[in-house]
Amino acid sequence: MKKGIHPDYKKVKAVCTSCGAEFETGSVLNEIRVDTCSNCHPFYTGKQRFASADGRIDKFNKKYGLK
Ligand SMILES: [Zn+2]
Repeated sequence: MKKGIHPDYKKVKAVCTSCGAEFETGSVLNEIRVDTCSNCHPFYTGKQRFASADGRIDKFNKKYGLK
């Protein structure tokens, strides 16, 4: 590997902004923030969340006159 041209790959902390869970992972960034993680994503929890998804759907329905 050529020296001086590759970013420094290191262990960093990834923080989930939805549930606050912290994970250790590897990245060239200093810190990673994610919107969802395996701790709180509906696919893993089996529960449906209705957080901010309806905003865009409402907008779409209004725009095209749907109910
Ligand atoms: Zn989470």
